[in-house]
Amino acid sequence: MKCPQCQHSSSKVVDSRHTDEMAAIRRRRECERCGFRFTTFERIEVTPLVVVKKDGTREVFNRDKVLAGLLRACEKRPIPYKELEKRTDQVEASLRNLNKAEVSSNDIGEFVMQELMTLDQVAYVRFASVYKEFKDIDQLMEALNQLTKGSNDDEHQ
Ligand SMILES: [Zn+2]
Repeated sequence: MKCPQCQHSSSKVVDSRHTDEMAAIRRRRECERCGFRFTTFERIEVTPLVVVKKDGTREVFNRDKVLAGLLRACEKRPIPYKELEKRTDQVEASLRNLNKAEVSSNDIGEFVMQELMTLDQVAYVRFASVYKEFKDIDQLMEALNQLTKGSNDDEHQ
């Protein structure tokens, strides 16, 4: 943030407050060289997470897909829905923490595996056995769907 007066690149924040109900932060800054005071607005930007699929096509990250995948993997397991929502949030947070403009569907699969590993062994094995074959989240979800459809007499129950 350069000083509008002298172009010096270092300033200190002398006051900071939220505006429009937290969507922006207004900062009063003071140039560390010439003492000039100016105001900046920082917008909290929710950037869409872009997912590169195995075939090279891209789509915007869809957390509902992750949640649906977790639901399928955890079908008939004693896991509350709230817990799955929490794990979905965790997967999204992990993806954003990669700090990459684009993530791969592989990244999503890995993080889902991490969550399932600590959540439920049966769900983890279900997911992992299918995941290893496909390595693509969309194919995987489809396969999981098929798997759980036919799991009424699942020996793990
Ligand atoms: Zn200055």
